[in-house]
Amino acid sequence: MKNATGTLCIVNGKLFIGNDQPAVEQGCLIATDGIIQYVGPADGAPSLAHLPAASILRIDARGGTIMPGLVEAHFHPTYFNVAALEDLDIKYPVEYVTLLAAANAKLALECGYTAARSGGSLFNIDVWLKKAIENDIVVGPRLASSGREICGVAGLMDWNPDYRKIGMEGLVLLINGADEARGAVRKLVKDGVEWVKTYPTGDAAAPDVNDHHTLCMTFEEMYAVVATAHNHGLKVTGHCRATEGIKNALRAGYDAIEHGTFMDHEALDLLLARNVPVVPALYFELMSVERGPEFGLPPKVIEGHQETLDGGAESARMILKAGGRLGMGGDYGFAWNPHGDYAKELSFFVNYVGFTTEETLRCATKTGAEIMGRDKEFGTLEVGKLADVLVVDGDVLADIRLLEKRERFIAVLQGGIVKAGKLSRP
Ligand SMILES: [Zn+2]
Repeated sequence: MKNATGTLCIVNGKLFIGNDQPAVEQGCLIATDGIIQYVGPADGAPSLAHLPAASILRIDARGGTIMPGLVEAHFHPTYFNVAALEDLDIKYPVEYVTLLAAANAKLALECGYTAARSGGSLFNIDVWLKKAIENDIVVGPRLASSGREICGVAGLMDWNPDYRKIGMEGLVLLINGADEARGAVRKLVKDGVEWVKTYPTGDAAAPDVNDHHTLCMTFEEMYAVVATAHNHGLKVTGHCRATEGIKNALRAGYDAIEHGTFMDHEALDLLLARNVPVVPALYFELMSVERGPEFGLPPKVIEGHQETLDGGAESARMILKAGGRLGMGGDYGFAWNPHGDYAKELSFFVNYVGFTTEETLRCATKTGAEIMGRDKEFGTLEVGKLADVLVVDGDVLADIRLLEKRERFIAVLQGGIVKAGKLSRP
């Protein structure tokens, strides 16, 4: 992805840096060729008087907020208003889903998300979407890809009955035993993914045989995934709700945990021992409970989502309090939790789970970049990092819900280039 050329100067806003430093009133950010050179009070900023005025892009934050671009840590670029499981894999051909994924990536950037980590994708699309974004062919968040997911045969993601003979290849690699687990990872290595996404446990969405307390992979399979992935330099994560599944993942050497719903103290100790990040993706559960009836979700499924919501909120509070790391991402792309609503996850963590705004924003920026393994490049506004910046008309620290309102975005910048927001319009 190309950086800007010339000088960028953003002034007249409260500066949220993204680390533990307090926000700076009347802040200023200066970048040269897309790399941050100064962040701090406008008073102490270096003079740009020696530069030709035409070479400087000046942005007035209008007394609002200057903050790091957001990181969506559990992004499904290929999900598009999924209302039933079948919508996830066989509804559209790869050609159409690829176009949908490009549209979702553009939308995420317009929503202030300058980076995103895929939580699984159909047909290896995110690997190629990432290349297209990196080559400036389409706009979107800086992406970490994960391609197809891995699940045990008859587990959560294996819903097409055998008599239909259509398999699940577009969405998931199904395995039986450690040998097949290794084979599946090797396929993904060749596909070019960065993260291997697995399904150690079930979910409230499948209450009959794969509910949120069911295991969908064995420890041996998970360990084989990790050993093979790590050998090739890939990271491993997994959809982990059941307590035993979380522990299996942590003992097998997983690099991140998705959801981490039903944590107990032993699971917390295992998590903290290696400082493994967790991405709860919880607003989806609230929406499933509140809007499920509208979309015909059975009562048993909604009850399961309520239990997941309560358990997940409790676990997230426990992890944050113990000093663990949480990323913000939200499983968006379902009919009742559509793409574009990403920042509702952040308001939810403040207003429902009880995090402070600063804690939530750090999870959504700094920790997100750490999870992607790119915290030296972005995630905070610090000298030497990319000018991936969100400029908001209004005080986000006073009201995090401003991030839900795209019309309040003055500019969304990647590498110092305005890609979205009011200033991007002709
Ligand atoms: Zn997901």
